[in-house]
Amino acid sequence: MLHVCRKCGIELISGINFTPSYAKQWNWICRKCHNERVKGHWKINRERMRETSRLHYLKNREKLLEKSKKRQAFKLEKLREEILELLGNKCSNPNCSVVGGMSDSRALQIDHINGGGCKERKKLSIIPYYQHILQSIRKGEEKYQLLCANCNVIKR
Ligand SMILES: [Zn+2]
Ligand SMILES: [Zn+2]
Repeated sequence: MLHVCRKCGIELISGINFTPSYAKQWNWICRKCHNERVKGHWKINRERMRETSRLHYLKNREKLLEKSKKRQAFKLEKLREEILELLGNKCSNPNCSVVGGMSDSRALQIDHINGGGCKERKKLSIIPYYQHILQSIRKGEEKYQLLCANCNVIKR
């Protein structure tokens, strides 16, 4: 019985351009067309998989970024708490408008006594900057003090 490839119409000769196992019912297709079709499927599949993994990556990336942001914020808060604690938890200006020195941590700012804080701040991002300050305090360098927002503005 003569069969032709349903795609290209070539006459199918078993063992030459056709392997019978390729043919499910009515699926007469030559080796070449079969291979092309398989390749095509593979390509589509690969593209689909790529898209899926890209979306998966993006979704996770957002989650991971959010997580790391939270971790950063937490770390920063802990660092700031530690610095404030070491610096006495209140405004260092003896003439602070709050008697005894402002002690509300929300109003307290870390001040570089001899200036230069801006330069250091620009060089480092916030967490390394705080770590730098903390190290300096631990070494007893006395380069930093706490000022409340009011006193800090007046000092400048
Ligand atoms: Zn064919
Ligand atoms: Zn003050």
